[in-house]
Amino acid sequence: MRKVCILRLGHRPERDQRVTTHVGLTARALGANGMYLAANDIGIVTSIGDVVERWGGNFFVENDVKWKKCIREWKERGGIVAHLTMYGLEVGEVVAAVRERPEDLLIIVGAEKVPGDVYGMVDYNVSVTNQPHSEISSLAVFLDRLFMGREIEQDFPDAKIRVEPCKVGKRVIEL
Ligand code: SAM
Repeated sequence: MRKVCILRLGHRPERDQRVTTHVGLTARALGANGMYLAANDIGIVTSIGDVVERWGGNFFVENDVKWKKCIREWKERGGIVAHLTMYGLEVGEVVAAVRERPEDLLIIVGAEKVPGDVYGMVDYNVSVTNQPHSEISSLAVFLDRLFMGREIEQDFPDAKIRVEPCKVGKRVIEL
């Protein structure tokens, strides 16, 4: 099974903590293996690590990566790279091609303006509509299209707790 990881660009510790945490949690919940953070913010590693500890799975966060090096090394190891941007080709046009490739996949999302070099370094610039919205929503739609909805049924090994779905109220089981 190939690896799917996120590279989070442009994180500003003073204002993006919540959004970046949600990028990581969305990635984890929807089938990705880990997130590289192109900024130094150990708080993100800790908060997502706490979720992994309780809710299971092997999702990793690597703090303070150099983004160009991260992309270069990913490609040197044989991986491919997709960048989510409202300026890219429509997701419906490219996702089947991405899905059929067996290589590990790195998905880049930005915060504010993404450096122009990124567009030329990647294999696919992909839009989820050509309207401005968010890194969380575009990542969620892209992963769901990539995995064709099957990620919803994944198991999270070594979980300490899990939700027992119910029609009304909340039921959480200690395992
Ligand atoms: N103005 C910024 C730019 O030009 O890169 C966009 C910032 S947006 C708030 C943050 C991130 O959300 C983008 O870097 C991109 O990864 C993602 N994003 C926003 N709208 C998108 C769309 N329609 N399709 C794909 N990704 C999108």
